[in-house]
Amino acid sequence: MILILTPNIEPESHVYQLLTTHLSRLPDIELRIHREQGLEQMLTEIHLIGNTSAIPTEDMKDLPGVERVVRVSEEYRILGRHRDDHRSSHFNYQGLQFGQDTLHIFAGLCAVDTAEYVELMMRALRDNGQVCTRMGAYKPRTSPYSFQGHGKDCLPYVFELAGKYGIKVIAMEVTHESHIDEIHRALRLTGEPTGVMLQIGTRNTQNFELLKFVGRQKDFPVLLKRGFGITLSESLNAAEYLASEGNSKVVFGLRGVKTKLGDPHRNSLDFAHVSVVKRLTRMPVCVDPSHSVGSRSRGPEGILDIMHATAQGGIAGANMVLVDFHPDPNRALVDGPQALLLEELPHFLEDVEIARKAFEKRTAALARYASELQTVAA
Ligand code: PEP
Ligand code: MN
Repeated sequence: MILILTPNIEPESHVYQLLTTHLSRLPDIELRIHREQGLEQMLTEIHLIGNTSAIPTEDMKDLPGVERVVRVSEEYRILGRHRDDHRSSHFNYQGLQFGQDTLHIFAGLCAVDTAEYVELMMRALRDNGQVCTRMGAYKPRTSPYSFQGHGKDCLPYVFELAGKYGIKVIAMEVTHESHIDEIHRALRLTGEPTGVMLQIGTRNTQNFELLKFVGRQKDFPVLLKRGFGITLSESLNAAEYLASEGNSKVVFGLRGVKTKLGDPHRNSLDFAHVSVVKRLTRMPVCVDPSHSVGSRSRGPEGILDIMHATAQGGIAGANMVLVDFHPDPNRALVDGPQALLLEELPHFLEDVEIARKAFEKRTAALARYASELQTVAA
Protein backbone atom coordinates (compact mmCIF):
# COMPACT_ATOMS: atom_id res chain seq x y z
CA MET A 1 0.00 0.00 0.00
CA ILE A 2 1.32 3.45 -0.90
CA LEU A 3 0.28 6.67 0.82
CA ILE A 4 0.86 9.70 -1.36
CA LEU A 5 1.27 12.73 0.86
CA THR A 6 0.28 16.31 0.12
CA PRO A 7 3.05 17.95 -1.94
CA ASN A 8 5.88 19.79 -0.20
CA ILE A 9 5.18 18.26 3.19
CA GLU A 10 8.19 18.83 5.46
CA PRO A 11 9.53 15.89 7.47
CA GLU A 12 9.86 18.23 10.48
CA SER A 13 6.23 19.37 10.29
CA HIS A 14 3.75 18.49 13.01
CA VAL A 15 1.43 16.76 10.51
CA TYR A 16 4.22 14.55 9.20
CA GLN A 17 5.36 13.62 12.69
CA LEU A 18 1.81 12.74 13.74
CA LEU A 19 1.35 10.62 10.63
CA THR A 20 4.58 8.64 10.86
CA THR A 21 4.14 8.07 14.60
CA HIS A 22 0.71 6.62 13.92
CA LEU A 23 1.93 4.46 11.03
CA SER A 24 4.91 3.13 12.93
CA ARG A 25 2.48 1.64 15.45
CA LEU A 26 0.78 -0.54 12.81
CA PRO A 27 1.67 -4.13 13.72
CA ASP A 28 4.03 -6.03 11.37
CA ILE A 29 4.20 -3.21 8.87
CA GLU A 30 7.49 -1.76 7.72
CA LEU A 31 7.58 1.83 6.44
CA ARG A 32 9.71 2.97 3.55
CA ILE A 33 9.78 6.64 2.70
CA HIS A 34 10.40 7.78 -0.87
CA ARG A 35 11.00 11.46 -1.42
CA GLU A 36 11.38 12.91 -4.89
CA GLN A 37 12.15 16.51 -5.75
CA GLY A 38 10.14 17.21 -8.90
CA LEU A 39 10.43 20.29 -11.08
CA GLU A 40 7.86 22.20 -9.08
CA GLN A 41 7.29 20.30 -5.88
CA MET A 42 8.63 17.79 -3.41
CA LEU A 43 6.64 14.56 -3.53
CA THR A 44 6.62 12.12 -0.64
CA GLU A 45 5.30 8.58 -0.66
CA ILE A 46 5.13 6.27 2.33
CA HIS A 47 5.19 2.62 1.35
CA LEU A 48 3.65 0.19 3.81
CA ILE A 49 5.37 -3.18 3.44
CA GLY A 50 3.83 -6.28 4.99
CA ASN A 51 0.34 -7.66 5.14
CA THR A 52 -1.71 -4.57 4.39
CA SER A 53 -4.85 -6.42 3.34
CA ALA A 54 -6.42 -5.86 6.77
CA ILE A 55 -5.81 -2.10 6.68
CA PRO A 56 -8.87 -0.25 5.29
CA THR A 57 -8.00 2.18 2.51
CA GLU A 58 -10.51 4.70 3.90
CA ASP A 59 -8.76 4.83 7.28
CA MET A 60 -5.48 5.64 5.59
CA LYS A 61 -7.08 8.27 3.35
CA ASP A 62 -8.39 10.11 6.41
CA LEU A 63 -4.98 10.44 8.06
CA PRO A 64 -3.48 13.93 8.21
CA GLY A 65 -1.13 14.74 5.35
CA VAL A 66 -2.37 11.91 3.13
CA GLU A 67 -3.64 12.97 -0.27
CA ARG A 68 -4.21 9.60 -1.94
CA VAL A 69 -3.86 5.91 -1.24
CA VAL A 70 -2.85 3.32 -3.85
CA ARG A 71 -3.28 -0.33 -3.14
CA VAL A 72 -0.45 -2.05 -4.96
CA SER A 73 -0.21 -5.61 -6.10
CA GLU A 74 2.74 -7.67 -4.90
CA GLU A 75 4.63 -7.28 -8.16
CA TYR A 76 6.60 -4.19 -9.10
CA ARG A 77 5.26 -2.19 -6.18
CA ILE A 78 6.95 1.07 -7.08
CA LEU A 79 7.48 0.93 -10.82
CA GLY A 80 4.37 -1.08 -11.63
CA ARG A 81 0.96 0.14 -12.72
CA HIS A 82 -1.77 -0.45 -10.20
CA ARG A 83 -5.51 0.07 -10.20
CA ASP A 84 -6.48 3.73 -9.61
CA ASP A 85 -2.82 4.62 -9.74
CA HIS A 86 -2.49 8.04 -11.30
CA ARG A 87 1.09 8.69 -10.29
CA SER A 88 3.19 10.38 -12.93
CA SER A 89 5.41 8.22 -15.06
CA HIS A 90 7.83 11.03 -15.89
CA PHE A 91 11.15 12.12 -14.57
CA ASN A 92 13.33 15.06 -15.48
CA TYR A 93 17.05 15.02 -15.96
CA GLN A 94 19.30 17.69 -17.38
CA GLY A 95 16.28 19.63 -18.57
CA LEU A 96 14.93 16.65 -20.52
CA GLN A 97 11.73 14.83 -19.70
CA PHE A 98 11.65 11.03 -19.80
CA GLY A 99 8.32 9.23 -19.79
CA GLN A 100 6.11 6.79 -21.61
CA ASP A 101 5.10 9.47 -24.10
CA THR A 102 8.50 10.98 -24.93
CA LEU A 103 11.23 9.83 -27.30
CA HIS A 104 14.99 10.34 -27.04
CA ILE A 105 17.69 8.97 -29.28
CA PHE A 106 21.03 7.96 -27.78
CA ALA A 107 23.28 7.37 -30.79
CA GLY A 108 26.97 7.03 -30.05
CA LEU A 109 30.03 4.87 -29.61
CA CYS A 110 29.63 1.38 -28.19
CA ALA A 111 33.06 1.91 -26.64
CA VAL A 112 35.16 5.03 -26.36
CA ASP A 113 38.39 4.35 -28.23
CA THR A 114 40.00 7.68 -29.12
CA ALA A 115 39.26 11.31 -28.27
CA GLU A 116 39.23 12.03 -32.00
CA TYR A 117 36.37 9.56 -32.63
CA VAL A 118 34.48 10.87 -29.60
CA GLU A 119 34.74 14.39 -31.01
CA LEU A 120 33.66 13.34 -34.52
CA MET A 121 30.66 11.54 -33.01
CA MET A 122 29.63 14.44 -30.78
CA ARG A 123 29.99 16.96 -33.60
CA ALA A 124 27.79 14.85 -35.87
CA LEU A 125 25.18 14.63 -33.13
CA ARG A 126 25.21 18.40 -32.57
CA ASP A 127 24.98 19.03 -36.31
CA ASN A 128 21.91 16.81 -36.40
CA GLY A 129 20.18 18.44 -33.44
CA GLN A 130 20.86 15.66 -30.95
CA VAL A 131 21.49 16.21 -27.23
CA CYS A 132 21.96 12.63 -26.00
CA THR A 133 24.53 9.96 -26.75
CA ARG A 134 25.95 6.64 -25.63
CA MET A 135 29.63 6.20 -24.72
CA GLY A 136 31.05 3.02 -23.24
CA ALA A 137 34.00 3.50 -20.88
CA TYR A 138 33.64 0.28 -18.89
CA LYS A 139 33.02 -2.63 -21.22
CA PRO A 140 31.92 -6.05 -19.99
CA ARG A 141 33.55 -8.44 -22.49
CA THR A 142 33.08 -12.14 -23.03
CA SER A 143 36.83 -12.72 -23.23
CA PRO A 144 39.17 -11.38 -20.55
CA TYR A 145 41.70 -10.73 -23.32
CA SER A 146 39.43 -8.35 -25.24
CA PHE A 147 39.63 -4.55 -24.85
CA GLN A 148 37.90 -3.73 -21.55
CA GLY A 149 37.29 -0.02 -22.18
CA HIS A 150 39.46 2.94 -21.19
CA GLY A 151 37.64 3.29 -17.87
CA LYS A 152 38.13 6.44 -15.83
CA ASP A 153 41.00 7.68 -18.01
CA CYS A 154 38.70 8.65 -20.85
CA LEU A 155 36.00 10.29 -18.74
CA PRO A 156 37.46 13.83 -18.59
CA TYR A 157 37.73 14.22 -22.36
CA VAL A 158 34.40 12.50 -22.99
CA PHE A 159 32.64 14.91 -20.60
CA GLU A 160 34.47 17.98 -21.88
CA LEU A 161 33.65 17.16 -25.49
CA ALA A 162 30.03 16.50 -24.53
CA GLY A 163 29.88 19.98 -23.01
CA LYS A 164 31.53 21.49 -26.07
CA TYR A 165 28.90 20.01 -28.39
CA GLY A 166 25.85 20.58 -26.19
CA ILE A 167 25.30 16.93 -25.26
CA LYS A 168 23.17 16.82 -22.12
CA VAL A 169 22.98 13.12 -21.29
CA ILE A 170 25.42 10.26 -21.92
CA ALA A 171 24.27 6.67 -21.41
CA MET A 172 27.28 4.94 -19.87
CA GLU A 173 27.46 1.39 -18.60
CA VAL A 174 28.86 0.74 -15.13
CA THR A 175 29.85 -2.73 -14.01
CA HIS A 176 31.06 -1.90 -10.50
CA GLU A 177 29.99 0.56 -7.84
CA SER A 178 33.40 2.28 -7.89
CA HIS A 179 32.65 3.45 -11.43
CA ILE A 180 29.97 5.78 -10.12
CA ASP A 181 32.51 7.55 -7.91
CA GLU A 182 34.84 7.83 -10.87
CA ILE A 183 32.08 9.37 -12.98
CA HIS A 184 31.22 11.81 -10.19
CA ARG A 185 34.84 12.83 -9.79
CA ALA A 186 35.38 13.36 -13.53
CA LEU A 187 32.19 15.40 -13.83
CA ARG A 188 33.30 17.61 -10.93
CA LEU A 189 36.79 17.95 -12.36
CA THR A 190 35.44 19.11 -15.71
CA GLY A 191 32.83 21.48 -14.24
CA GLU A 192 29.72 19.31 -14.73
CA PRO A 193 29.46 19.99 -18.48
CA THR A 194 27.00 17.14 -19.12
CA GLY A 195 24.90 14.45 -17.42
CA VAL A 196 25.13 10.67 -17.26
CA MET A 197 22.48 7.98 -17.38
CA LEU A 198 24.02 4.94 -15.71
CA GLN A 199 23.53 1.83 -17.79
CA ILE A 200 23.33 -1.62 -16.26
CA GLY A 201 24.05 -4.13 -18.97
CA THR A 202 22.36 -7.40 -19.74
CA ARG A 203 25.14 -9.37 -18.03
CA ASN A 204 24.46 -7.53 -14.78
CA THR A 205 20.66 -7.40 -14.80
CA GLN A 206 20.57 -9.66 -11.75
CA ASN A 207 23.70 -8.40 -10.05
CA PHE A 208 21.62 -7.53 -7.01
CA GLU A 209 24.38 -5.84 -5.01
CA LEU A 210 25.17 -3.55 -7.96
CA LEU A 211 21.45 -2.84 -8.40
CA LYS A 212 21.11 -1.94 -4.72
CA PHE A 213 24.12 0.35 -4.85
CA VAL A 214 22.96 2.10 -8.02
CA GLY A 215 19.44 2.36 -6.58
CA ARG A 216 20.74 4.09 -3.45
CA GLN A 217 22.15 7.02 -5.42
CA LYS A 218 19.78 9.56 -6.87
CA ASP A 219 22.16 11.75 -8.84
CA PHE A 220 21.92 9.74 -12.03
CA PRO A 221 18.95 8.08 -13.72
CA VAL A 222 19.43 4.47 -14.77
CA LEU A 223 18.97 2.51 -17.97
CA LEU A 224 18.49 -1.12 -17.00
CA LYS A 225 18.91 -3.60 -19.84
CA ARG A 226 16.76 -6.70 -19.88
CA GLY A 227 18.67 -9.85 -18.95
CA PHE A 228 19.34 -11.90 -22.09
CA GLY A 229 18.59 -15.28 -20.54
CA ILE A 230 15.90 -14.63 -17.95
CA THR A 231 12.18 -13.98 -18.10
CA LEU A 232 10.72 -10.53 -18.62
CA SER A 233 9.27 -10.65 -15.11
CA GLU A 234 12.68 -11.39 -13.62
CA SER A 235 14.12 -8.39 -15.46
CA LEU A 236 11.25 -6.13 -14.32
CA ASN A 237 11.91 -7.24 -10.75
CA ALA A 238 15.54 -6.24 -11.25
CA ALA A 239 14.31 -2.74 -12.14
CA GLU A 240 12.21 -2.77 -9.00
CA TYR A 241 15.38 -3.39 -6.98
CA LEU A 242 16.62 0.03 -8.11
CA ALA A 243 13.36 1.70 -7.17
CA SER A 244 13.02 -0.11 -3.84
CA GLU A 245 16.37 1.36 -2.83
CA GLY A 246 15.17 4.86 -3.67
CA ASN A 247 15.88 5.57 -7.33
CA SER A 248 12.82 5.29 -9.53
CA LYS A 249 14.28 7.25 -12.42
CA VAL A 250 14.61 4.05 -14.39
CA VAL A 251 14.34 3.37 -18.12
CA PHE A 252 13.88 -0.26 -19.11
CA GLY A 253 15.92 -1.43 -22.10
CA LEU A 254 14.95 -4.17 -24.53
CA ARG A 255 17.97 -5.53 -26.39
CA GLY A 256 16.92 -8.94 -27.62
CA VAL A 257 17.26 -12.28 -25.87
CA LYS A 258 19.82 -15.00 -26.42
CA THR A 259 18.48 -17.90 -28.41
CA LYS A 260 19.86 -19.54 -31.49
CA LEU A 261 16.36 -19.14 -32.94
CA GLY A 262 17.20 -15.49 -33.59
CA ASP A 263 19.95 -16.39 -36.07
CA PRO A 264 21.30 -14.75 -38.15
CA HIS A 265 20.68 -11.84 -35.77
CA ARG A 266 22.90 -11.60 -32.71
CA ASN A 267 19.87 -11.90 -30.43
CA SER A 268 16.19 -12.60 -30.89
CA LEU A 269 14.35 -9.32 -31.21
CA ASP A 270 11.88 -8.68 -28.36
CA PHE A 271 10.46 -5.32 -29.32
CA ALA A 272 6.92 -6.69 -29.21
CA HIS A 273 7.46 -6.30 -25.47
CA VAL A 274 7.48 -2.48 -25.69
CA SER A 275 3.74 -2.35 -25.06
CA VAL A 276 3.96 -5.13 -22.44
CA VAL A 277 6.49 -3.23 -20.34
CA LYS A 278 4.49 0.00 -20.73
CA ARG A 279 1.33 -1.81 -19.63
CA LEU A 280 2.88 -3.54 -16.62
CA THR A 281 5.03 -0.64 -15.41
CA ARG A 282 5.33 3.13 -15.55
CA MET A 283 8.87 3.02 -16.92
CA PRO A 284 9.85 4.57 -20.24
CA VAL A 285 11.00 1.80 -22.58
CA CYS A 286 14.23 1.86 -24.58
CA VAL A 287 15.05 -0.32 -27.56
CA ASP A 288 18.59 -1.22 -28.54
CA PRO A 289 18.54 -2.37 -32.18
CA SER A 290 22.35 -2.65 -32.40
CA HIS A 291 22.86 -5.33 -29.80
CA SER A 292 19.70 -7.11 -30.96
CA VAL A 293 20.66 -7.35 -34.62
CA GLY A 294 24.46 -7.22 -34.41
CA SER A 295 25.28 -6.67 -38.08
CA ARG A 296 24.90 -4.29 -41.01
CA SER A 297 22.79 -6.69 -43.06
CA ARG A 298 20.06 -5.18 -45.22
CA GLY A 299 16.67 -6.19 -46.52
CA PRO A 300 16.32 -6.59 -50.31
CA GLU A 301 15.01 -3.01 -50.52
CA GLY A 302 18.32 -1.82 -49.02
CA ILE A 303 17.19 -0.80 -45.55
CA LEU A 304 19.50 -1.97 -42.75
CA ASP A 305 18.07 -4.65 -40.43
CA ILE A 306 19.08 -2.33 -37.56
CA MET A 307 16.81 0.35 -38.98
CA HIS A 308 13.97 -2.12 -39.49
CA ALA A 309 14.36 -3.19 -35.87
CA THR A 310 14.43 0.43 -34.67
CA ALA A 311 11.27 1.13 -36.65
CA GLN A 312 9.56 -1.86 -35.03
CA GLY A 313 10.32 -0.36 -31.63
CA GLY A 314 9.32 3.13 -32.73
CA ILE A 315 6.01 2.13 -34.29
CA ALA A 316 5.14 0.37 -31.02
CA GLY A 317 5.78 3.55 -29.00
CA ALA A 318 9.32 3.07 -27.66
CA ASN A 319 10.60 6.02 -25.62
CA MET A 320 14.32 5.76 -26.20
CA VAL A 321 16.62 4.32 -28.84
CA LEU A 322 20.15 3.29 -27.93
CA VAL A 323 22.19 2.72 -31.06
CA ASP A 324 25.84 2.19 -32.00
CA PHE A 325 27.54 4.53 -34.46
CA HIS A 326 31.22 4.87 -35.28
CA PRO A 327 33.18 7.26 -37.55
CA ASP A 328 35.31 4.34 -38.80
CA PRO A 329 33.74 0.98 -37.84
CA ASN A 330 36.70 -1.01 -39.24
CA ARG A 331 38.84 0.52 -36.53
CA ALA A 332 36.29 0.28 -33.70
CA LEU A 333 37.62 -1.70 -30.77
CA VAL A 334 34.20 -3.08 -29.85
CA ASP A 335 31.20 -4.03 -32.00
CA GLY A 336 32.40 -2.42 -35.24
CA PRO A 337 30.35 -4.80 -37.43
CA GLN A 338 27.07 -3.43 -36.06
CA ALA A 339 27.99 0.27 -36.04
CA LEU A 340 26.21 2.71 -38.32
CA LEU A 341 28.25 5.40 -40.10
CA LEU A 342 28.10 9.09 -39.25
CA GLU A 343 26.88 9.75 -42.82
CA GLU A 344 23.91 7.48 -42.04
CA LEU A 345 22.83 9.54 -39.01
CA PRO A 346 20.42 11.91 -40.83
CA HIS A 347 18.69 8.99 -42.57
CA PHE A 348 18.52 7.05 -39.31
CA LEU A 349 16.93 10.02 -37.52
CA GLU A 350 14.41 10.52 -40.31
CA ASP A 351 13.51 6.84 -40.21
CA VAL A 352 12.92 7.02 -36.44
CA GLU A 353 10.70 10.05 -37.03
CA ILE A 354 8.67 8.15 -39.64
CA ALA A 355 8.11 5.27 -37.21
CA ARG A 356 7.19 7.66 -34.39
CA LYS A 357 4.68 9.48 -36.63
CA ALA A 358 3.19 6.10 -37.55
CA PHE A 359 2.79 5.29 -33.84
CA GLU A 360 1.05 8.63 -33.28
CA LYS A 361 -1.23 8.03 -36.28
CA ARG A 362 -2.10 4.56 -34.97
CA THR A 363 -2.98 6.00 -31.56
CA ALA A 364 -5.11 8.73 -33.15
CA ALA A 365 -6.89 6.16 -35.35
CA LEU A 366 -7.73 4.09 -32.28
CA ALA A 367 -9.15 7.14 -30.50
CA ARG A 368 -11.29 7.94 -33.56
CA TYR A 369 -12.66 4.39 -33.83
CA ALA A 370 -13.29 4.24 -30.08
CA SER A 371 -15.32 7.47 -30.12
CA GLU A 372 -17.29 6.30 -33.18
CA LEU A 373 -18.15 3.07 -31.39
CA GLN A 374 -19.29 5.07 -28.36
CA THR A 375 -21.52 7.25 -30.54
CA VAL A 376 -23.07 4.15 -32.13
CA ALA A 377 -23.66 2.62 -28.69
CA ALA A 378 -25.29 5.81 -27.29
C1 PEP B 1 26.03 -2.04 -24.61
O1 PEP B 1 24.98 -1.38 -24.75
O2 PEP B 1 27.15 -1.59 -24.84
C2 PEP B 1 25.94 -3.43 -24.17
C3 PEP B 1 27.02 -4.12 -23.83
O3 PEP B 1 24.69 -3.87 -24.19
P1 PEP B 1 24.06 -5.21 -23.55
O4 PEP B 1 24.32 -5.12 -22.08
O5 PEP B 1 22.62 -5.10 -23.91
O6 PEP B 1 24.76 -6.37 -24.21
MN1 MN C 1 28.37 -3.24 -27.76
